[in-house]
Amino acid sequence: MASITLKNLVKKYDDGFPAVNDVSIEIADGEFVILVGPSGCGKSTLLRMIVGLEDITSGELSIGGRRMNDAAPRERNLAMVFQNYALYPHLSVFENIAFPLRLGKAKATKSEIRSRVTEAASMLELTEHLDRKPANLSGGQRQRVAMGRAIVRRAEAFLFDEPLSNLDAKLRGQMRSEILQLQRRLGTTSVYVTHDQTEAMTLGDRVAVLKRGVLQQLASPRELYEQPLNLFVAGFIGSPSMNFLPATVQGTTLRTPFGDLEIPAEKAAAASGKPVVLMGVRPESFEDAELVQDQVRGHGSTFTARLTHTEWLGNEQYGYLPFEATAEVRSLLAGLARDLDAEELKPQLVVTLDAASRIRGGRDVLLWLDTRRIHLFDPSTGENLT
Ligand code: ATP
Repeated sequence: MASITLKNLVKKYDDGFPAVNDVSIEIADGEFVILVGPSGCGKSTLLRMIVGLEDITSGELSIGGRRMNDAAPRERNLAMVFQNYALYPHLSVFENIAFPLRLGKAKATKSEIRSRVTEAASMLELTEHLDRKPANLSGGQRQRVAMGRAIVRRAEAFLFDEPLSNLDAKLRGQMRSEILQLQRRLGTTSVYVTHDQTEAMTLGDRVAVLKRGVLQQLASPRELYEQPLNLFVAGFIGSPSMNFLPATVQGTTLRTPFGDLEIPAEKAAAASGKPVVLMGVRPESFEDAELVQDQVRGHGSTFTARLTHTEWLGNEQYGYLPFEATAEVRSLLAGLARDLDAEELKPQLVVTLDAASRIRGGRDVLLWLDTRRIHLFDPSTGENLT
């Protein structure tokens, strides 16, 4: 097993546009790193550069401390798990898993093949299916066969290219947790590409968020969620998404479309000299003011606003509060939605309320906001000032 180091990696295709632009990531031995971002952000290209399916335009790639820029894919000894599993339909599960052990340098003896395949199959609960053909397996089982093939090779690392995107939602959740447990058990360095932020957040020790070939932030899932470095990361991570509202700072008062809010002095100070900011606040930072416990009430501000409707989900509810937006704010939100590959960012606040809240739509309601959890972004650079 090995560490993988990407140093200032650049990939330019024929059109000259850098699909991967100066990306540096150090992946520790045994670490599980996710590459995530919207379509076209360069995550697959980056993975293909690591595995050797794509030339490196500039920068350096090392695996286990050895420079690998020009090494052939097989010399890198990495195992790739693809979206379509790349199984051979005419071969049994046993033969599919054994396949890499019958090739070239990795060629193993008959008894070794049997023992390695049996061991992998038992790890993956495929023992009973070793004689079947891929066509007679479920999607999840096929996925496990593909993983088995990676395991028997005793590769330096596993590289996953959107392995779950062909599966339905339920199976995806199940396979996600299987992949995670397996990775933990084997301790194999893993790099996993996805456009799904839930996969990224649940699987990764660390997550690399990419936009147009540029690394935006590399951090643990919690840090990405709580301390996004910029508007893009803030909007990409979290569901429902973070709310973005235009605001101005005056002293420790934040003037917002929902009235004035008192904010912590250090947040106000961070935005000093920026008269206009975008306030970013996650839906769960709000609550029905009546339900807020006295000991936390002082950490936030209350305000009154018109709620259009609520959605009751059983364990919680979402509330919707539109706000007036100038043409400038609308164009800012539209630009952000384009970056995020999102349908639309409406000028509205989405808040999560306790299931016990009696707040209903069509009237003015009293809400509480935990002002310790707001972010202030520079609208021109997107940088998180707080
Ligand atoms: P997706 O999730 O849609 O697969 P991605 O984030 O994996 O997207 P890449 O496939 O790495 O993105 O592509 C990054 C950029 O490089 C895109 O703008 C894409 O159009 C471009 N690109 C990818 N492959 C080639 C190629 N062979 N020739 C030219 N441009 C390419």
